[in-house]
Amino acid sequence: MSQPPPRSQSRRIRCVVFNAALGPLDYKVPAHLDVVPGQVVVCPLGPRQILGVVWEEERLPSADVPEHKLRPILGVVPVPPLGAPLRRLIEWCADYYMAPLSAVARMALSSTAALQGGSTVTEYRLSGREPGRLTPQRAQAMDLLIDQQATIRELAEIAEVSDGVLRGMVNAGLLEPVTVDADRPYPAADPRHAVPELTPTQAQVAGRLVEAVAARRFVTFLLDGVTGSGKTETYAEAIAAALEQGRQVLVLLPEIALTQSFLARFEARFGVEPVTWHSSLKSSERRRAWRAVAQGRAQVVVGARSALFLPFAALGLIVVDEAHEVSFKQDDGVRYNARDVAVMRGHFESIPVVLASATPALESLHMAASGRYERLVLPSRFGGAGLPDIRILDLREQAPERGHWLAPPLVEGLRERLAKGEQSLLFLNRRGYAPLTLCRTCGYRFQCPNCSAWLVEHRLSQRLACHHCGHEVPTPRACPECGEPDCLVACGPGVERIADEVATILPEARVALVTSDTLTSAAKAAEFVAQAENKAIDVIVGTQLVTKGYHFPDLTLVGVVDADMGLEGGDLRAAERTYQQVAQVAGRAGRGEKPGEVLIQTRHPDAPVIAALASGDRDAFYAAETEARREAHAPPFGRWAAIIVSSEDEAEARDAARAIGGTAPRLDDVMILGPAPAPLSLLRGRYRYRLLVNARRSSEVQKVIRQWLEPFRFPQGVRVAVDIDPYSFV
Ligand code: ADP
Ligand code: ZN
Repeated sequence: MSQPPPRSQSRRIRCVVFNAALGPLDYKVPAHLDVVPGQVVVCPLGPRQILGVVWEEERLPSADVPEHKLRPILGVVPVPPLGAPLRRLIEWCADYYMAPLSAVARMALSSTAALQGGSTVTEYRLSGREPGRLTPQRAQAMDLLIDQQATIRELAEIAEVSDGVLRGMVNAGLLEPVTVDADRPYPAADPRHAVPELTPTQAQVAGRLVEAVAARRFVTFLLDGVTGSGKTETYAEAIAAALEQGRQVLVLLPEIALTQSFLARFEARFGVEPVTWHSSLKSSERRRAWRAVAQGRAQVVVGARSALFLPFAALGLIVVDEAHEVSFKQDDGVRYNARDVAVMRGHFESIPVVLASATPALESLHMAASGRYERLVLPSRFGGAGLPDIRILDLREQAPERGHWLAPPLVEGLRERLAKGEQSLLFLNRRGYAPLTLCRTCGYRFQCPNCSAWLVEHRLSQRLACHHCGHEVPTPRACPECGEPDCLVACGPGVERIADEVATILPEARVALVTSDTLTSAAKAAEFVAQAENKAIDVIVGTQLVTKGYHFPDLTLVGVVDADMGLEGGDLRAAERTYQQVAQVAGRAGRGEKPGEVLIQTRHPDAPVIAALASGDRDAFYAAETEARREAHAPPFGRWAAIIVSSEDEAEARDAARAIGGTAPRLDDVMILGPAPAPLSLLRGRYRYRLLVNARRSSEVQKVIRQWLEPFRFPQGVRVAVDIDPYSFV
């Protein structure tokens, strides 16, 4: 019989340390400590300390350090160990997306504050004391900090002043400290708070989901229901079932802007708001949420894609809402697709995963057709509301007036709705006033110095901005090239320009502009929703932010300003994306008792995607699209991977890309395109080249790429990024 090692003898452990340049490192455990796999530990590294996660020794390569050279770990971080299913997920992601294990593991430990001891934090708020004479900076802080409470660092960001200014205000008694219990519990959700009466079809679908939650087995559902069919109400029953089992639920939403309306609905159904997780949480909120998740006290977490790597103690269900959304794909750092990773997490946790959408991704429909996902259908809108009437406006025949962008029938539609006291929505997926500005005298065009892209005019903020890197300049009055004053011309429309046009045609209409520039916070989003619900808005003009989630019963007209815009990029998913976007925004019309109408402006009424939208024949569209993908060996029939080579030095990037291209493997089932300059050949000051790998479904594309890139050693400034299953082709 083997004996456990005596406590005095040191034990070897293998750790994934948080440094992407290092592989797993071995340490020994001092006698007074106990560790198990998944535990977060403090490791010595040279003279410094680094965090690491203890891993199963046999699952990682060894650095072959002899026993007597092992250094002891310095301590164990007092948080629950990362569970085995999460460790398997981290391994899978690192392998599949070709990312360093430490970079993926780090996403699970996404709150440094959570790892530190101590259970109170000191936050500050205005004390209410009369300030007397103020410096301009203090006056600004007094203004911007009303109703705020946060750490000095966070308040400094809100007030747009330095930490020092605020510390001075603390000393002057203008800000007062508040001690906050960092781990105060969240109020408990009540699964039976307000149970809706489901329609028979909804009840059947909900029953299937509830059954799967009870069975605690892995299964992926494709919840395929038209907009307004009650997908949310239906999966809420599965959430309730998980809560009754005492298990946790993760709901992923594609963007924070959608969270606000979700929170309100959740509270109506379960009596409390769920725990939220996204990048703009304060560090104390992050810490509190992370610890509650790890200790099993956070019942339902609603979050952006990064929530997928939270260390849930007892996960019982994952829901991905609007699962077709491209924003689930992360395009920097670890380039993963949260929808696919959610399915893998469900697999490792042995729990059901629900992918909900009115316009599922072709890949998801294919998985359902092949039996790997279970498809559940909600074919009609709740409450008998019909789907809206869709009409095509051929811009070649019904041209807008000169210098305008809305065709006469759309203008007429807006006028009619305004007269009847109904609401309209105009959709154009372009922020700002105009996508291109040029000089009428010399033809000069404003271009970003860091990117191969035009600067977009933002008239509200009086700036020209690059939508890729964030570079901004105040809009000049004169041309920087020829010096001519007042000669700049705006070319093409953005939403600001459409809002202007509406204000010109219907001066009495109350117009709301909804873009990420105007809905900058949760509070602003809530204010917009309240105004729309109270009918303080007649016309909403917005980007893709307004296409999803909102339910305004008196909104009866939707106008798609430019349905062709998405088709111009020419990437693989262009048609699918256009279909999804237009179908989603169309789904905002006629959700109440009054019927809805959708007008789609296009110059290509015969394009298959436009024709499918007009006839409402989703199946025909997907069938045609499926065939096109099959012929192109595109997903889901083949696989793609992109290799992006970049450097601040153009020649260096080109040479590296050519060197890689020069040793491209010749294989029967893998085709390699490029290298070629990327469509965005300059991005954030880096020159970019791309290679595209197209492989059969069955080929081990990661293995091929790993072996191919392995021998290369490039100059320091060269970055080689691999994007598996890419969404972006720029
Ligand atoms: P989807 O998520 O499919 O777009 P929702 O769940 O948002 O649909 O439902 C659309 C609207 O209909 C919401 O206002 C919702 O509260 C309401 N609704 C759907 N099903 C029911 C039901 N069974 N009972 C009461 N209201 C419902
Ligand atoms: Zn730029």
